[in-house]
Order: sequence, then structure tokens, then C-alpha cells
Amino acid sequence: MENPVLYIVIPCYNEEEVLPLTAPQFLKQLTDMMSAGLISDKSRILFVNDGSRDTTWEVISSLSASDARYKGICLSRNRGHQNALLAGLHEALEQGADITVSIDCDGQDDITAMSRMVEEYHKGSEIVYGVRSSRDTDKFMKRFTARSYYKLLKVMGADVVYDHADYRLVSAKVLREFENFTEVNIYLRGMFPLVGFKSTSVYYERKEREAGKSHYPLSKMLSLAFDGITSLSIKPIRIITGIGGFVALFSFIFIIYSFVGFFTGNTVPGWASTSSIICFLCGVQLLSLGVIGEYIGKIYLETKRRPRFIISERTPENSEDE
Ligand code: UDP
Ligand code: MG
Repeated sequence: MENPVLYIVIPCYNEEEVLPLTAPQFLKQLTDMMSAGLISDKSRILFVNDGSRDTTWEVISSLSASDARYKGICLSRNRGHQNALLAGLHEALEQGADITVSIDCDGQDDITAMSRMVEEYHKGSEIVYGVRSSRDTDKFMKRFTARSYYKLLKVMGADVVYDHADYRLVSAKVLREFENFTEVNIYLRGMFPLVGFKSTSVYYERKEREAGKSHYPLSKMLSLAFDGITSLSIKPIRIITGIGGFVALFSFIFIIYSFVGFFTGNTVPGWASTSSIICFLCGVQLLSLGVIGEYIGKIYLETKRRPRFIISERTPENSEDE
């Protein structure tokens, strides 16, 4: 079998500080894998500029001018990490990749773990998940919230790989099937398990960011977390139905209880119990409406079928590519 063409897909948003540091590391890893006979020498590094406001695109363009193995696409505006990644995977497939590895550009994920991922591909896996072996470099809060979140996702019935972010090898075979997943609310790490095919995991240590700062403030993390649940599972709606049933039953029992009280002449002013029940029911109703509204909002976004990303520019083809 001929060696597979690998595309390393790297989303970048305002990364002018870190890109000049990590790009050579990616290239070294690529050439190491080439000389180890793991991948074809047509393999490339594909940067996706996610509408950065700094000079990231200039950095990518000059990298690509300096070496044909660097390539880049530029999105027309900031679309968020997941969409940028999707754009990159799509482009890699289009350019003839046999396998792709997606990774962040900040050097936090162990770049050398890629070799082991490619080895797993050679052993027959179509998807290889990069899984963090420890979370020592995370703050306690991040570690705690991440752990609880994975547990919550499991309970909600979403099939996600524990402690796997978006460092992952995906073969062209899987990507071609994935093209049929046309939803606009995307949560890639939860969607690839849905495609199926043989998969496995590779463990690695995660480091501190090399430079620049994280683009995942609490608000973005919460919204990704929420998207994760509501795009993968309709269990919250079921839970609401359950709560509704429970509350209805409870009220029914309460009505019987108050009737009995009335006929035995034990009626009390009862203002407190009445008002607390009203408050409780209002709360349950508002919560339920909110969750149902969230799903209806998603339906609304899906029915519009807007493009998930728009590519505005590509680095020019280098003559060495032919
Ligand atoms: N990123 C992106 N678009 C965004 C935000 C982030 O493409 O709107 C990229 C970013 O450049 C990085 C990756 O997504 O390569 C992960 O972001 P970051 O390192 O800031 O997140 P963290 O590792 O702190 O979760
Ligand atoms: Mg990071």
C-alpha cells in the first residue's frame, strides 16, 4: 500500500504570537513522519485563518511562500473553532488527503503523538482520538467543570470520548461519510463517534499554551457545552416531560389531601402552601419553556441551511506541488 497523504488541519484565531513558534514544530513532525515512512511526501500542513483581527493571515501567507508544505485558507469572518475546523477538514478532503489530523495551533497538545495516531491508522483504525492522560496543567476549576461536563454528557446519552478535545485523526473514508452530516449546530467531538467505523485512542500529555492567550473564556465554554448537549441529545426534553408528569401526580395527590382536609373540617388558611406551589409550578414551566425554546431555536437555525463557513482566500499553489 502506498503511504497515505496526511493533512494536518490547524484552526488559528488571532495567533500571530504563537504561530511562528509552533509552525516549525509542525513541519518538523511532518518531515519526521515522512522519513519514518509513515506518510507520503505529498502531505501538507493546512492552516485555517478563522477571521483573525491581527496579522495571522499574513503570517500564514509568508509561511506558505517560504515552504510549499505549508498551506492556508482564510475564512471570510470569524466562525468559531468548530466551523473553522470543519472548513479545514473539508478543504483537506478536496485537496486529496487520505488522512487528516486536527490540532490546535498553540502547541498545548503533544505534536509528536501524531506519529502514534498514524501508526494506529496503519493498523486499521479510521478514527484515532487524542486523549489527555492528565489534566495537571489545568486550573482546578477547569478540571472540575470539564469532568462534570463529560459525566453530564454521558447521562444525557451523548457518546463522547472522555477527555478528548479536537486532537484527532480522521480518514478520508470517514470524512466522505461525514459530508452527509449537514447540520449547522456542530459539535465535532460528539459527531465523529456517530459516523462509526473502527476507532481507537492515543494518550498524550497536555502542556501550557506556548504564547498568546486562550480564546475560550467561560462564556464560550458554556455555549460550547450547551451546544454539545442540545445538538447530540433530546434527553433534556424527556427529562422535562418526566418532571411534568411527576409534578402533575404530586398536585393530584395534593388535591386529594386538601379535599380530605376540607371534609374532615381541618381546613387552615393555607396561603403559604398555595403560593409556594404556584411559585414552584411557574419555575418548572419557565424552565421547560426555556429548554424547549432552545431546541426550537436550533430547528430554526437548521432550516435556514446557511453555509457553515465561507472561504475567502487560499494561499497560492506552489510550483513544487505539481
Ligand atoms: N480558535 C478558532 N476560532 C475561534 C477561537 C479559537 O479557530 O473563534 C482556535 C485557536 O486559534 C486555537 C484553537 O481554536 O488553535 C483552540 O483555542 P484556544 O487554544 O484558545 O482554546 P483552549 O485551548 O484554551 O481551550
Ligand atoms: Mg489551547
